[in-house]
Amino acid sequence: MNKISIAAEDRVFVLTGAGISAESGLPTFRAEDGLWAGHRVEDVCTPEAWERNPWRVWEFYSARRAAGAKAEPNPAHTALAELERQLGDRFFLCTQNVDDLHERAGSRRLVHMHGELSKAHCERECGRPPVEDHAIYRSLAEVGRCPCGGRMRPHIVFFGEIPLEMERIQAEIAKATLTLVVGTSGSVYPAANFVHWARLAGARTAYVGPERPLNASAFTHVVVGKAGEVLPGLFQLG
Ligand code: NAD
Repeated sequence: MNKISIAAEDRVFVLTGAGISAESGLPTFRAEDGLWAGHRVEDVCTPEAWERNPWRVWEFYSARRAAGAKAEPNPAHTALAELERQLGDRFFLCTQNVDDLHERAGSRRLVHMHGELSKAHCERECGRPPVEDHAIYRSLAEVGRCPCGGRMRPHIVFFGEIPLEMERIQAEIAKATLTLVVGTSGSVYPAANFVHWARLAGARTAYVGPERPLNASAFTHVVVGKAGEVLPGLFQLG
């Protein structure tokens, strides 16, 4: 399949994963060694890791903030922002990524289901919303406290926690006639199930990435290639 045709009545749902930011120089999560930027997930990205050693968690996410600030959106981010400009509210983007490269490319109708690097929230479930936080911390003493007294933690959905905005995401998948998945290994749930929900809703489903994902058999089309090379020429609007 060289092109994906998008007709006037189509609604497009896009799910992106770490692979779309790989060509911007940000390491994916499940590279050969199974580590994220050299760290075991259990040490930096679980509620237990936070309980055990909050500084180790903040040190890791401070380093991700520093790397993210140096990275630039690549042609894949730009192609999705351009598609949104053409489709308007017939387009919806859900990213598993915590970087802000989609926004910096111009995407606006998007949710970050696994949180955002540029925010922090209270470690207690005190009900206050997340706040902007771009700091690159050098010690735990620098990290602020919520008015309720809880320590602020990265606004990241740790493994074992419930992803954000799931009701809205489910509603958007149910409305879409085309679901496109880009650069995700199909191993992190519930995102790996979105293609099944899309099929149940009767949508066409396509995957773009350099290797077949674990859930490849659920897609109607798999385009093998790097997102930054494939996406800019992929869409044919009718
Ligand atoms: P993953 O690391 O498990 O899988 C990455 C996928 O990207 C692989 O299937 C790989 O084949 C593909 N890929 C590699 N290079 C690509 C390219 N140039 N174009 C397209 N695809 C490419 O990632 P995941 O499935 O998104 O799960 C990892 C979790 O870790 C995510 O939920 C996310 O929250 C977090 N994470 C985020 C970032 C980020 O924000 N940039 C980076 C690493 C991990």
